[in-house]
Amino acid sequence: WPGPDQVVDANFSPPARTLAPLATLEGRNVSAWFGDRQVLDRVNLTMPAGIITALIGPSGCGKSTFLRILNRMHELVPSASLAGEVLLDGEDIYDPERKLVDARKHIGMVFQKPNPFPAMSIYDNVVAGLTLTGRRASNDEKDLLVESCLTKAGLWKEVQDRLRAPGGGLSGGQQQRLCIARSLAVTPRILLMDEPCSALDPTSTRVIEETMLELAHEVTIVIVTHNMQQAQRVSQNCAFFLAAQGTPGGIVEHGPTDAMFGNPIDSRTADYVNGRF
Ligand code: ADP
Ligand code: MG
Repeated sequence: WPGPDQVVDANFSPPARTLAPLATLEGRNVSAWFGDRQVLDRVNLTMPAGIITALIGPSGCGKSTFLRILNRMHELVPSASLAGEVLLDGEDIYDPERKLVDARKHIGMVFQKPNPFPAMSIYDNVVAGLTLTGRRASNDEKDLLVESCLTKAGLWKEVQDRLRAPGGGLSGGQQQRLCIARSLAVTPRILLMDEPCSALDPTSTRVIEETMLELAHEVTIVIVTHNMQQAQRVSQNCAFFLAAQGTPGGIVEHGPTDAMFGNPIDSRTADYVNGRF
């Protein structure tokens, strides 16, 4: 790469880099509201570098809201407000000095329903992940990027012969892996996944889980899941969210997944992980 005294395109960063520096994400006293209604109350959670953290808990307790706050998506809802801090390696992603796109390009997001651009080619779907953040790349760099992201997402072998076919023509599980590849195009440091397998069959689910375990070597992953077996298969740390009747959601208990499932401290955690509510 050019030395520090050489002029480089400020928008360019090497897309074929295989290892992003691992980052820690930390929510501090995160509270959230929709209008007057508080839905999260002072959530504190450190999501350590290189670890898969699972967020579990019943529907409506604020897991998705917390995840969207980690990616600055919560603020897109007009009635939404929040308090607290989100630190990416100690730096506040809500720092007013920091552009939104700058915060977002470090943090990828994958949703429950696979949402590739259906008419766009598989190739262009991956590249779109890069261009949405305003970065530019040559055709050779794009080729490398597409191969590397699809490989990391566990999809390359299945699609390398039809990169120009539309993303919408893939199976559900393949579409979800395409979305993962797209989110990897900016070499994110954090990957947030909101129930990424809920819409998929068991076979596709296992393929995505294997992909996640591989990816965890280079990106810090936070996954929301309702599948307790999945939480145990993929995560090292776990946080149990709960919203008692009429109160905002919060974390009841968090810690190593083995301990949460094997020896929970709080009886509500024990009930939940054992399927009693
Ligand atoms: P979970 O992901 O744990 O199921 P959510 O974060 O989706 O929970 O929701 C938490 C609470 O916030 C719920 O009571 C839900 O109804 C409410 N909520 C979520 N999104 C919105 C929104 N856009 N406007 C108003 N209320 C919302
Ligand atoms: Mg949710």
